[in-house]
Amino acid sequence: MTEIQSLFKLQELDMECLALETALRELPVQKEIDESQERLSMLRERLSRLGLELNRVRKEQKHEEWEIKDITATASSISRKLYGGEVTNPREIENMRYRLDTLEATKSRLEDDVIALMEQAEALESEISEVNLEITQKEAELVELTGKRDLEMAAVSAKLSNITEDRERLRTQIPDPLVKKYEQLLRDRGGSVVVPIKGKICGGCHVTLPSSIVILAKPNNAVVRCENCGRILCWRE
Ligand SMILES: [Zn+2]
Repeated sequence: MTEIQSLFKLQELDMECLALETALRELPVQKEIDESQERLSMLRERLSRLGLELNRVRKEQKHEEWEIKDITATASSISRKLYGGEVTNPREIENMRYRLDTLEATKSRLEDDVIALMEQAEALESEISEVNLEITQKEAELVELTGKRDLEMAAVSAKLSNITEDRERLRTQIPDPLVKKYEQLLRDRGGSVVVPIKGKICGGCHVTLPSSIVILAKPNNAVVRCENCGRILCWRE
């Protein structure tokens, strides 16, 4: 390989390195992991909200059950007085009957509430177990995806380090000033800076090169640049 051909090869390796570095940053499986983590944190938030709601419902239920107990106790005490013959005043009897009716009505309303709260708690419990199940599935999926990503990363990294080694080896075979010129061009303009001659056409900017330039470039043993775009020309058979 002549120096220019080596430089062309160096550029190929640089491009491969660049592509692998991009691939490493943008592994498709990483996107899946991000989505899975997002879903998981949403599920955990939902689980905590559902847990709080279930606690609230259970407390309310307990509270109403106590109230029912109180009312039952009050009502039976009134009943005892009423039917025990202690009270004889008709007006007082009427008041006590009215009070008993009111207590019964309240008790019956509270009992309906308790049934509704029990149903609510049941629905929440079943939703919680569904969310828990999905969390378990997502966690397992995440472990699998993370493993897959680590493998992919290791494979790309290994490839990258091989190519980097090849690049370093090749780099030492090319005279320093030529590599410096190449790197300067890379910094200045980016993209391909060593381009093949295709027929008589510059592989970079596609203008037709003068025959004198093609003749100069053909041995690939000196830096010949396209007069139009300034790229280094490499003759390819
Ligand atoms: Zn050109």
